[in-house]
Amino acid sequence: MSVLALLEKIQPAWKKRILNALAHGASVRENFDEQIERFYEMLSHAVDTGDPAWLDTIIYDWVASSTQSDRQEGQKNITALLNQVFPLTYEVARENLNGDEALELIGALIPLFTYALERAARYESDSRVAFVTNELAEAQAKLERLERSKSNFIGVAAHELKTPLTLIDGYVAMLRDMLAEKNEHIEILFQGIGTGIRRLRTIIEDMIDVSLIDNNMLSLNFQPLWLGQLLTLLQNEFAPIAANRHQTLEIRQFPGSETMLFGDPERLYQAFRNVVNNAIKYTPDGGRITIDGRLLPGFVETTIADTGIGIAPEDQEVIFEKFGQLGKVSLHSSSKTNFKGGGPGLGLPIARGIIEAHGGAIWVESAGHDEVRCPGSTFHILLPIRTELPDSKLAKLFGAETRQEQNPNASETS
Ligand code: ADP
Repeated sequence: MSVLALLEKIQPAWKKRILNALAHGASVRENFDEQIERFYEMLSHAVDTGDPAWLDTIIYDWVASSTQSDRQEGQKNITALLNQVFPLTYEVARENLNGDEALELIGALIPLFTYALERAARYESDSRVAFVTNELAEAQAKLERLERSKSNFIGVAAHELKTPLTLIDGYVAMLRDMLAEKNEHIEILFQGIGTGIRRLRTIIEDMIDVSLIDNNMLSLNFQPLWLGQLLTLLQNEFAPIAANRHQTLEIRQFPGSETMLFGDPERLYQAFRNVVNNAIKYTPDGGRITIDGRLLPGFVETTIADTGIGIAPEDQEVIFEKFGQLGKVSLHSSSKTNFKGGGPGLGLPIARGIIEAHGGAIWVESAGHDEVRCPGSTFHILLPIRTELPDSKLAKLFGAETRQEQNPNASETS
């Protein structure tokens, strides 16, 4: 008798056994007997032709119809089902055929069943991988949406805050003019209001800048510049502040500081300013801030080193993320230059955005954070030596022409 005939001979008993054993309880599958019928049909084709690929489609369909929760939990249901079908088949063969016949049928079925198992395992793994990949892509898209709406929110909120602030500023100026008689006490109050308004404006400007950077809308106004000049301006601004904190601010001349390069002087000043401001802020009174640099092939590197509290290695990237303040800053002290004075945590993300928009890089080196030993931090700013204006297409991309319309107050960085 042929193997196919042997398979046909055991078919009724086989079907009954499989249905009894597998289609019980709550997990009765819909049209399970139809499925078993189909499996049998494919199995007999495979036996007849000797080609196990006849089993592919049904196994694939079974795996594809497994539920969302099966995939979520990584259940190998079809592999498990086949693992039960095979011993049952051997059992039925032994009971319904004589020894030789049973052996012949089982011998023919083993390679087919092995093939089916391997296929089921592969399809189930593929389906799990596809499921997880899809979940990851969805989570990633959700995160991106969240990040975008966060950044849009920051931008919109900042613009909305700016209008009433301008109004307050205007009314305060008018009030001051109207109070013709100068009064020392009132003048102190006006100064307080003025300082508050200036700080609020800086924070709002920073929020707008962060949102421009996040949305790749930071426009650069390329001009020839010399880093040495920019550093002199920094010296003028920060020398009195450092002196106030009994700190030494040393700005060295270095090869590269006299090299002409194209960049946006206002934006670069803003970036350097944020870093130097931090160096002062996170260095105790009496400390030292040294600005130095060197010329590299195609680049000029500026270093801003301080003898301050330092930054732990695990935080050296975090600080460049927006709102990336570390630990407890003295939130009651909103001064920009007091030791560890609080800030919104936007200075470094803005500095990085500006430097990267120039094709440069900024990073920090520090042996760690220690407020007693003060290991210090060194910020490195690498800028490409651009010897000509970026081509007009690139300039358009940066939106140089539209800069004033987009961000008319870009220069108000104080
Ligand atoms: P902010 O100063 O407003 O908090 P920044 O983005 O300028 O925000 O800096 C982020 C954080 O990086 C700071 O809160 C501080 O913890 C850390 N940091 C920056 N510069 C220094 C520095 N020179 N020394 C030690 N820590 C620093």
